[in-house]
Amino acid sequence: EAKAAGRDRVHLFSPGLRDAARWRMDVATRLRDGALDQFVVHYQPVVRLDTGAVEGVEALLRWQHPERGLLAPDAFLSVAEETGQLIPITRWLLRETTRQAADWARQGLQLRMAVNISARHFSTETLVRDVRAALHASGLAAEQLMLELTETCVAEDPTRAEDQLAVLRGFGVRVAIDDFGTGWSSLAQLMALPIGTLKIDRSLITAAERLAAGGTGAVFGAIVELAHTMGIKSVAEGVETADHLRMVREAGCDSAQGYLLAHPMAAGDVERWAHRVEEG
Ligand code: C2E
Ligand code: CA
Ligand code: CA
Ligand code: CA
Repeated sequence: EAKAAGRDRVHLFSPGLRDAARWRMDVATRLRDGALDQFVVHYQPVVRLDTGAVEGVEALLRWQHPERGLLAPDAFLSVAEETGQLIPITRWLLRETTRQAADWARQGLQLRMAVNISARHFSTETLVRDVRAALHASGLAAEQLMLELTETCVAEDPTRAEDQLAVLRGFGVRVAIDDFGTGWSSLAQLMALPIGTLKIDRSLITAAERLAAGGTGAVFGAIVELAHTMGIKSVAEGVETADHLRMVREAGCDSAQGYLLAHPMAAGDVERWAHRVEEG
């Protein structure tokens, strides 16, 4: 079955409490000693709900650990952030993903590339430079790149966030708010910012499911409607079942992402997956 193709086999490695401190030390040491060439990117398709077409992919970081295998971000992201290594890793990731999207575009596969940006990186001067350098090196059209920011990126210093976003929008890059519904910012607060897309966290799907026993989530629908009123597109995250898909479609979501549609997968699998989807 095409939908199940390319599912990524990441290890949900979670050290026990006693080993957690040692694991964090080990990660910190390895990152400091230059594990940059051990990182890989997997891509999860984002599908339009009206046409079923693939509109883009989200880049998700994995670490090919020499002893532990392929690790999901849970196992190393917070350490990388604390040690300041996440910024150089993301700089590499921006280069790699824009190059990949440009390659795909040359093959006739137009996929918007979404990259997750940490709050710390967003608060630095280097982000704009890193994004511009990646676009320049790859030749990718700026509109094909979307930065996913969490609510905390903008909540801490809204005025600075607005300036930063204005610069990024200035050269055409798209911006999405990630995990919407997990923080405390309101749509009204976000409305003031030049944001094109709202990614609705999967916890809202689960909540809607509980409240309405699989029917249309009223809260979900209200968010989507409000976003639309403001000209903001909505992407439902964590669509795992046919019921989820029906719910987010009825709520009027523009696009969806989740295991039902496609798992994160290696670049080569994205090409095969996209072609199979095209052929129906
Ligand atoms: P996220 O940005 O919300 O990314 C979506 C996560 O949900 C991914 O987990 C993805 O594999 C998972 N997912 C996708 N569909 C489903 C589904 O139907 N059900 C469920 N239960 N999960 C689904 P992953 O790859 O383990 O990444 C976890 C988080 O790590 C991401 O959440 C993001 O916050 C962070 N992350 C990943 N890559 C990067 C990166 O390059 N930079 C930064 N700063 N953070 C990253
Ligand atoms: Ca994301
Ligand atoms: Ca998310
Ligand atoms: Ca999340």
